[in-house]
This record gives sequence, structure tokens and C-alpha cells, in this order.
Amino acid sequence: MKSYNPYGIYIPRYHKQSRFYNIFANHFEDFLSNYYSIDELYSKYGDITDHQTDTVHKFLKCQDLTQGFGVAKCPSCGTAYIVPFSCKKHKICPSCRMKKLLEYSEWLKQEVLLELTHRHWVFTIPKELRVHFYRNRFLLNKLIETACRFLVFIYRKFLNLPKNQKKKAHPGIVGILQTAGSDLKFNPHCHLISTEGVLIEKDEDDLYVPVNFLPYDYIRIAWRNRVLNMLYNFKEITSQERKELKERYKSGFNFPG
Ligand SMILES: [Zn+2]
Ligand SMILES: [Zn+2]
Repeated sequence: MKSYNPYGIYIPRYHKQSRFYNIFANHFEDFLSNYYSIDELYSKYGDITDHQTDTVHKFLKCQDLTQGFGVAKCPSCGTAYIVPFSCKKHKICPSCRMKKLLEYSEWLKQEVLLELTHRHWVFTIPKELRVHFYRNRFLLNKLIETACRFLVFIYRKFLNLPKNQKKKAHPGIVGILQTAGSDLKFNPHCHLISTEGVLIEKDEDDLYVPVNFLPYDYIRIAWRNRVLNMLYNFKEITSQERKELKERYKSGFNFPG
């Protein structure tokens, strides 16, 4: 995908022709006026907030020249570009999202990731548990936090070192929470990038130790237990439900990759 021209200026995507944009452009107002009369929708998804409505309206005005624009001009040759304002609603707007994605991955590559082998992890939860995170958005923060802490725990556990040294071992982790799957349905899951090994604090130079073996069968079950304990601690499920869920997901919660 060509999103930068040779001058390194981001070119917005002309999304007004896209099917996604037109679904909102043609049907969103109808959807709003009918929403509360469709029981099935309201009972499942609750109120539509002003923030949500506002976000869609801003998205519909993204890159609309009638809403204003900036001009970028080359000081030496005078070549000028007209750059329409973008909505910056990157959670809904595919164009703004692509820009954010490119900038973010560039930043990760240039500024954050070390010249080491990395692993990509995806931590998921079963469909039946999604509703807890939908109703209580605070738990989404807890989910990504739990995943990052869990990964540190896993690295330390399978590190071949004495206990007092394990506490000083740190894998490098970048964690991102995603709330939708590729079908755009609510599906909270965590993407983590981690160094393949750990950095161990030493008095002189820190020491990098690769961690080569990680038992996935164990990790799936331990991840399941972490998530269930978290939900139990926040009183989302009872201890009986926790027990039943452990039974139902005997081999743990799946994570692809
Ligand atoms: Zn020029
Ligand atoms: Zn936009």
C-alpha cells in the first residue's frame, strides 16, 4: 500500500468511495432513529453515547475539503499541496487508522525494539467471557495488564537460573489491547511483542539470556487461570463459575501464534 509519496507526506485514502464509509454515510442517521425501537439491539448493546455518535459524525467529515484544509508548500520551489483535515478517529476511520499504524510501527522499529529476536503473542479469551469486558470496560485495562504480567511470570518460571536472580530478569514487552476481531465484532484480545530472552540486572553490565523453551500446553492453562482469577477478584464470576469454566476449558484458553 502506497500511503507516503516520495516527499514523505502522508496521502489520505479517498475513502468516500469505500463501502465501509458509505454504510455510515447512507445509513447511520436511519440507524440512530430506529435503534431504540429495536429491542434486540438495545437490550444487547445498551445506550448509544454522545461520544459514539460524535465519533461517527467526525469520521464522515474526515478529509472533506469543505471542512477546512492546510497547505504544505516547499520553500525553495514553491510546489504546494492541499492537505484536508483528518478526523483522527482512528478506532473507526480506516484512513486515520492506517496513518497511526504506520507511524506506530515505524516508531517501534526505530526507537523501541532492540536488535534481538522477538516473539509475537496473541492472548485470547473464550466468546462467553466477552460480555464481562463489554459491560465493564475497566476490565479491558486489567486484561492487557494481566497478559503483560503473565508473560513476565512465564519467562521467569522457565529461566534456568537461581531464584534470587530470576527476580532481576526482565523480558522486553510491548502490549496492545484490541477490542475487535477482523469481523469487527467485540472480541477483546491482547497482542504482545516480546524479546525472546530476558535482561538480567547486574552490578556492572546487564546480561542478556535467551529463553529457548516455552511449554505452550502449560501456558494455555496458566493463562486461563489468570483470566478467571482476575474476573473472580473483580466479582464478575463466582467461585463455582470459575470451577465450571476450568472444567469446560480443560486444555486452557487458546492463543494462536
Ligand atoms: Zn521543492
Ligand atoms: Zn479519519
